[in-house]
Amino acid sequence: MAGEESVAGSKGRIAIVGAGPGGMAAALAAIRVGFEVTLFERFAEVRAAGNILNLWPPPQKVLKLIGVDTHDLGAPCKVFFKNAKGGVRAEIRLTDEVEREYGGGFIGLLRWGLYQRMLEALPPGVLRLDHELTCVEDRGRHVRLNFANGDQAEADVLIGADGINSFVRKHLWGDKPIRHQKLHLVGGYLFLDSPPDGIGVLSHNRTTQVSYTPIRHEGKWGYEWWVLEACDPDAPPPADLHAFCVERAAGFSRKVRDLIAATPREHLQRWPIRDREPMGQWSKGRVTLVGDAAHPTSPYAAYGAGMSIEDGYFLARELAGADIEDTQAVRDALQRYEDRRKPHTSRVSQEAYHTGRMFHHLPAPLRPVRDLVFDHTGFLQRMVGDAMPQHIISQLAEIEDAPPYVPAHRRGEAAGR
Ligand SMILES: Cc1cc2nc3c(=O)[nH]c(=O)nc-3n(C[C@H](O)[C@H](O)[C@H](O)COP(=O)(O)OP(=O)(O)OC[C@H]3O[C@@H](n4cnc5c(N)ncnc54)[C@H](O)[C@@H]3O)c2cc1C
Repeated sequence: MAGEESVAGSKGRIAIVGAGPGGMAAALAAIRVGFEVTLFERFAEVRAAGNILNLWPPPQKVLKLIGVDTHDLGAPCKVFFKNAKGGVRAEIRLTDEVEREYGGGFIGLLRWGLYQRMLEALPPGVLRLDHELTCVEDRGRHVRLNFANGDQAEADVLIGADGINSFVRKHLWGDKPIRHQKLHLVGGYLFLDSPPDGIGVLSHNRTTQVSYTPIRHEGKWGYEWWVLEACDPDAPPPADLHAFCVERAAGFSRKVRDLIAATPREHLQRWPIRDREPMGQWSKGRVTLVGDAAHPTSPYAAYGAGMSIEDGYFLARELAGADIEDTQAVRDALQRYEDRRKPHTSRVSQEAYHTGRMFHHLPAPLRPVRDLVFDHTGFLQRMVGDAMPQHIISQLAEIEDAPPYVPAHRRGEAAGR
């Protein structure tokens, strides 16, 4: 990659900045279609940004296609929205076929479990740690990169997968303000001796969401749970996260209270929730964006990591058909990629933003009315219970049905099985 010439037999050189789910998926998808790929990460190790995670069927399908071992990756579950007393308000209903294939709605897992599987699929030599991108220069026929450690690199295409504060996005489009949703989430997990029941419950009272789903991690069963509510982004975080969650969960189901009570303190983490308004344009010249760099998404969709994985797959598919030496052909491929992705990602991220506002920022006098509507009409079913399956099913249909890719360095293992 640092050299001036393309490697013989490769379709061209792709540099990706950021080894989160978006960057790793983009790397694996580009390798699958024949590119020479280098993945640059600023830290000395690949760090899972957080503990708990859910993944919908489309990213699961992509992961399998691009060479990630998805066997037993997470705990499948059916998902229900409930009120704090346990009354069902909405159900995520996928088709029978999808439920059969994926075991229900989404899977619950730990973030590190996903990262580990993606890292295992990356061929040796692709990942360069300790490489913080500090300068980008699009020279027309190629892109020049400079890193904080003094290294330089050159590529035919640069993919910014560097998260919500993306350096690449800023370089392309300037600095735009982040949207503080004035919400925060505390998430925790614990392992159990026996398998969970395959049900995930997202429940709300007037102000707070207290939810749980089953998880599977490295052959162990368990649950993840989270507490989400409005907060002042300038106020200090709760001093004792565990005590905070126990207090907020009072009045919710016995089950979630027991899960929270039994969770080891070191398994808790808190995040303020932020995103950005959808961008009009992602790509310029030979540079584009994937994942949170393009469309940071509130956890209300449980789909930010999932969409970043999908992005990498669709981007590689467009680039695969382009003559990488031809700058106009590259521009057209990047434009086709973002034109395909923008409607889906902006719809999901905006719906997640508005769902968060509706549950946590409605003026107090309107909340009883909202809850009456949610408890006694099909409004929430239509708003989230039916909308999410539409996104899932439409994405599944766009992802090709092809055998899983086996990366070259793992072909021996696959044959030996
Ligand atoms: C509380 C919470 C819960 C969530 N739950 C879910 C969920 O259940 N399901 C789901 O699908 N999504 C979920 N998300 C969203 C998900 O975490 C993100 O959408 C996802 O991590 C985005 O992946 P990414 O690869 O685009 O960016 P990131 O994960 O942010 O990765 C960016 C990478 O780029 C690196 N980097 C940054 N700058 C540079 C630089 N200059 N040079 C080199 N490297 C750089 C970073 O170190 C990092 O490794 C949740 C988010 C939050 C906050």
